[in-house]
Formats: sequence, C-alpha cells, structure tokens
Amino acid sequence: MDTTLNNIQISKTENSRLASVDFDNLPFGKIFSDHMFEMDFVDGKWQTPTIVPFRNLSLHPATSALHYGQAIFEGLKAQKNANGDVLIFRPDMNAKRFNASAKRMCMAEVPEEMFLEGLKTLIDLDRDWVPGNDGQSLYIRPFMIATDDYVGIRPSERYKFLIITCPVGAYYADPVKVKIETYYTRAAEGGVGKAKAAGNYAASLYPAMLAQKDGFRQLIWTDGKTHEFIEEAGTMNVVFVIDNKIITPDESKDTILEGVTKRSVLQIAADWGYEIEERPVRVDEIIEAINNGTLQDAFGAGTAATIAPISHIGYEGTTYELPAIDNREFSNKVKEYITKYKKGLVEDKFNWLMKV
Ligand SMILES: *Cc1c(COP(=O)(O)O)cnc(C)c1O
Repeated sequence: MDTTLNNIQISKTENSRLASVDFDNLPFGKIFSDHMFEMDFVDGKWQTPTIVPFRNLSLHPATSALHYGQAIFEGLKAQKNANGDVLIFRPDMNAKRFNASAKRMCMAEVPEEMFLEGLKTLIDLDRDWVPGNDGQSLYIRPFMIATDDYVGIRPSERYKFLIITCPVGAYYADPVKVKIETYYTRAAEGGVGKAKAAGNYAASLYPAMLAQKDGFRQLIWTDGKTHEFIEEAGTMNVVFVIDNKIITPDESKDTILEGVTKRSVLQIAADWGYEIEERPVRVDEIIEAINNGTLQDAFGAGTAATIAPISHIGYEGTTYELPAIDNREFSNKVKEYITKYKKGLVEDKFNWLMKV
C-alpha cells in the first residue's frame, strides 16, 4: 500500500529480508536494507520523491552514466544509541558536498532539505536495520547517475538520485602500511579530485593494485605536477602530528576531497587546544620528521574507518617504520572521542548529530 510522508511517496515491501540477516556477521557493503529512496530529474525538475522496496534498476543500454561517467556518490553512517534513537553523523555536510560534486560534473543539484528529508524518512522506515552492537553501524550511500538514453557527449538532461543503506559490522582499522606514490596521480589541479565522482575511484584501482603487489595496503597520493607534496591516503584524508603540531594538507586546491571526518578531527583538535597547520605538506619534511624522531603520529581519516593509523610509509624503495600505535596520544584519543560521539555517548557539543 502506498502512503505519503513529507511529500515522499512510500511503498513498503511485503517481503522483509530482515529476519534472514546474521547481524553478528555483517560483511561490509553486501547486505542492503529493505527499502531505497529514488527520485528522478526530468523536464528540468525533480519529480515525486519515492521510497520503494530495494530492487534492481532497469536502465536503457545507452544510459549516459554508463558511457561517460556522469556519476557521483556520498558515504556516511548512522548508529543506534542505547535508547534506540538513530543518530546520523553530520548529514548536512554530505548534502553540501554532494551538490558541490554535482556542480563540477554538470549534474542537477538535489535540494539540501530533500536530501536530508529523504535520508531521514528512509532510515526511519528501515530503523530495525540499524545495528546496535559496539562498532556496528548503518552505512548510507546516496548517489546520482545521468540517465539520458543518448550516445552523445553532453550533460545529461535526466538524472536519477538514490539512497541505499547497508548494515555493517565493526571496522577494525589495522594499522596500514602505505606507499608514497611518485608516478601515478589521483587528481590534477583543474581536475575532478574534489568531487566524489565515480571515475576517480576507477582510476585509482590500478596504481593501488601495484602498491599492493609491493606489500602496501594503500597509497599516499602526491600532487600531480611535482609529486613532492602529500595529498591524501587512499580514499581517506591524511593527518600527521609532528612536534605536537597537527599538520595536514590544506584543501585550497581542487585536488583534495574535503572529508567530513578530517574536518571533525580538526575541529575537535582545535577545541582541545592543539596547534593546527593546514598547509602544503612536503614529502621531504615527513621523511625528515620520521628520521629525526619528531613525527609522533600519522593516520588516515574517513567515514569507513574513522581513524586508520599508518604503521609504515614506503618511499623511493625504503620502508620507514612509524612510532608504535600505543604511543600515539592524539589519534588514540580522538578516535575514542569520535567513536563515542557518533554513538551519542558524549555531549553533542558541536551539534553534529541528526536524530531519527
Ligand atoms: C570520501 C573520501 C574521503 C573521506 O571523506 P569522509 O567524508 O571523511 O568520509 C577522503 N578522500 C577521498 C578521496 C574520498 O573519496
């Protein structure tokens, strides 16, 4: 039966798969909740927003996203607190970034209220899918594809915006061994690195695979021009602590994806009184700081792992070992705090949680 809520047309599944899910063994990104949000952009405007049973899409073979990659996505998480409230972490930031990506890829923008209302209504409907055990969460994947059935290159006139969700287990962020990449490039100035555009991830697979063959888990990307400046760690932002100062590449150029996790880490660090430097970070100075013992901490920051400590850095054939994980004051402290924050176990002092 169809109902309407917040102008969203809802058609509920009659065959919930919930009972078949083993919530003690949740693989990442393979199990999807009962419903999805779907809304089409046609004739210059967004049509009726809908929530429908999770199902396959039926697409024309000439669907332009499949040929020319006008496709963007977002990733965020929700968790359940002890009262059964679902807490979504900073979804407004994702809504804004989604539209920044849409703009860069010449796609229709989704009104922020609709993005958030769709998210809220979908998660409320599937709230039993939000796992409540330690470390578990609901991973939320909003995305948009160009849907013109036209084999010609131009911005599509039609788009499909969807939100799907997956219950996921605790993410054990093993310390990662990363390699500083000095040949391949994730993003060039003037390119699309600042957009969460699908093609960026396809382009990163090959260099990442080469690094994995060398025994590294991920790459640290450097700037495309000189490869002398550090940009990101895989699909995470990267943060260093040197001489008690928090140092991270600034986001003034359009080559670095502005992560919600890193922004949150920096805001917390500022609140705790740490000195923070957001500026170009040279590969040289990181290697020098490792060599002279002033590098205290290095980690990736992103939604999936929150904080992923870096254990080793490979550069020009040498593998450098970083300080023992247990001795890392800042990343251990900030990881614990953000983890509690997302679960509503500390005061929401920055007003970051949206309650459903
Ligand atoms: C998504 C993403 C991040 C991290 O962003 P969060 O909002 O913290 O999850 C960092 N770098 C890249 C390239 C990304 O795609």
